[in-house]
Amino acid sequence: MCPADALITTCPACAKVLFARYDLSAAASEMSPASLASRPWNLSRYAEILPVQDWATAPMLGEGGTPLHEAPTLGREFGFDRLLVKDESLNPTGSFKARGLAMAVARARELGAVTVAIPSAGNAAAAMAAYAARAGLRAIVAMPRDVPPVMKAECIALGATVLLVDGLIDDCGKVIRAGAAAHGWFDVSTLREPYRAEGKKTMGIEIADQLGWRLPDAIIYPTGGGTGIVGMWKAFAELEAMGLIGPERPKMIVVQAAGCAPIVRAFESGAAHAERWPNATTIAAGLRVPAAIGDYLILTALRESGGTALTVTDAEMMEGMTLAARREGMFVSPESGAAFIAARRLRESGFLKPEDLTVVFATGSGLMHTDLIATPDAVIDPTAPDLTAAIDRRMAAGSR
Ligand SMILES: *Cc1c(COP(=O)(O)O)cnc(C)c1O
Repeated sequence: MCPADALITTCPACAKVLFARYDLSAAASEMSPASLASRPWNLSRYAEILPVQDWATAPMLGEGGTPLHEAPTLGREFGFDRLLVKDESLNPTGSFKARGLAMAVARARELGAVTVAIPSAGNAAAAMAAYAARAGLRAIVAMPRDVPPVMKAECIALGATVLLVDGLIDDCGKVIRAGAAAHGWFDVSTLREPYRAEGKKTMGIEIADQLGWRLPDAIIYPTGGGTGIVGMWKAFAELEAMGLIGPERPKMIVVQAAGCAPIVRAFESGAAHAERWPNATTIAAGLRVPAAIGDYLILTALRESGGTALTVTDAEMMEGMTLAARREGMFVSPESGAAFIAARRLRESGFLKPEDLTVVFATGSGLMHTDLIATPDAVIDPTAPDLTAAIDRRMAAGSR
């Protein structure tokens, strides 16, 4: 056990991941379905099992409480009786990274941190920058130099110092750890401090809450560092200990990119840890994580839940984005596109049955990825003598 009232990263004895622990029987007496009925749909709804001490001054921006949409058209197309989408694109800064970083930054501020720092290919950096600005902390971000310009711009707009690194995300991690050691920055890298997982676990609590304190049969999650899988798996254990759910668990399903799939490979080979994936490449920055500190935790959740792990190509992710956008009106990130394709593939293979209530995670917004979308450049001259003919010529060229 490590004391919870000091800034901590990983375990000082074994360097593994630390988890927050609560008095769950005390929490259970406060956090009943009846008492929850009158609470707002944000992270403070589950305050008894979250680390923040003072919610009144915590740097909150409206994270959490995202919709659990029905996806009737894609559900029918893929062969599910009911397909649900947890739409995380509606979080502040456009991804579910907001949940984890809200908790990490809030707690870092409460424990006296002055500067928070993160290696990130985009969404985590933007989320940290936003909460640091809100909390009055200094923000340092290390990003691969080829990060999309929109991600850099968002961090700079939010006041972060951006360090561009000639390398991948784990090289950025090296830069942040060097700066942290030299200058006392507090490193909020994935699972290197205990509270991002606490924020991410609220996704699992919300799903149970939104389904009337039952869990779905399967959760399909595009996985990079794995904070979400690890956090939700912890949440389910806590909810069971509190008597809010029973011992049943959804099949936890990891989706990774064909060009970076360390967890899938380890799952298939039966390994307890994942080997670093060399030369990771994918359009999905959230999935471009060649080595995850929590690999053993992700693999445990997969195996204990009877879940599985699969890869999706970049082209398929794009197809998934298009399907979600055109069939269901959700413009989501490539990572989310991967999750939709995985749902289809697992129905085709029979791993999931029509009656399996399945939740697909849309983890981020498509708005950060407009560079992936072909857009028309033909223009119509509004002074053309035959404007209808000009319109018809353009229409005949199709939607692009
Ligand atoms: C970070 C990220 C992921 C991966 O999430 P983890 O919980 O770290 O595995 C997936 N999708 C998007 C959009 C992300 O930003």
